[in-house]
Amino acid sequence: MHSYIEALHDLLFPPQCLCCEQRLEASRLPLVCSACREGLRSISSPLCATCGIPFTTGVDHLCGVCLRKSYFFDYARSAMFYQPPVSNLLLALKFSNTTSTVASLKKLAEESGALSLFTVPDIIIPVPLHVTRLRERGFNQALMLARHCFPQWRRVIRSTVLVRNRATPPQSSLSGHQRRQNLKGCFQLTRSGLLAGKRILLVDDVFTTGSTINECSRILRREKPKRIEVFTLARSLQL
Ligand SMILES: [Zn+2]
Ligand SMILES: [Zn+2]
Repeated sequence: MHSYIEALHDLLFPPQCLCCEQRLEASRLPLVCSACREGLRSISSPLCATCGIPFTTGVDHLCGVCLRKSYFFDYARSAMFYQPPVSNLLLALKFSNTTSTVASLKKLAEESGALSLFTVPDIIIPVPLHVTRLRERGFNQALMLARHCFPQWRRVIRSTVLVRNRATPPQSSLSGHQRRQNLKGCFQLTRSGLLAGKRILLVDDVFTTGSTINECSRILRREKPKRIEVFTLARSLQL
C-alpha cells in the first residue's frame, strides 16, 4: 500500500535532481542524479588529526595551524568537499528551506561516514545568523543541518545560547586577515554558566578558513567547556 502511494506521488510530482533538474526514477534520497553524484567527494584520511583538513598523501598528522595551536576548538570534521553537487545543494538550502534538500544533504553526509565521528555532546550549538538575515531567510541553515544530521541529539540543540550581534559582509569576499577582523565582536553568549565542563558540538554548513568557527569557539572557550567539537557539512579548500 505504502509503495503504491509513493508510486502515485512520483507520477503526479515526478522527482527531479536538485542540482540539474533531470528527472529521477524514484523519489529516493538523496535527490541527486547519478551524473551529478560523480562530483561528490567525501573527506577521509589522511587529514589533520585536529582540524580535519585533508592532505593529499601520508598519514594523519597535525597541520601547521594546529601545530601552532591557533584554533579554539578541539576537533573538527567535515563530510564532503565544497564542490558540486554539495555546493549547489547548500546554495539551494540557503534560498529555500525544503525538506528534500536538507534531507538529501543529510543522506550524503551519512553515506560519507562523517556523522559518527563525534563524541556524544551535552549541547549542540548551530553557528548563528544575524537576526536581519534570519528574518530575510526565515531560517538558519546551520540549525536545519543540526536537526537533520543529529536527530538522536535533537533535544540538546540550543540555538539561542550564541547570537550574532552584527550582520557581517559575506566572508567569501574577504582575505584571511579581513575575515578575522570582520568577525571581531560579532558573536556573543546570551547567558553564562551553561557551558562549564560541557561537551559542545558546533554545527555549520561550510568550513573555509575556519575563521567563523574559530571565533565562535573563542567565545565559547571563555566558559571553560570540557571539549568543543565542530561538524561542518562541507569543507572548502579555497583560501
Ligand atoms: Zn543532476
Ligand atoms: Zn589542523
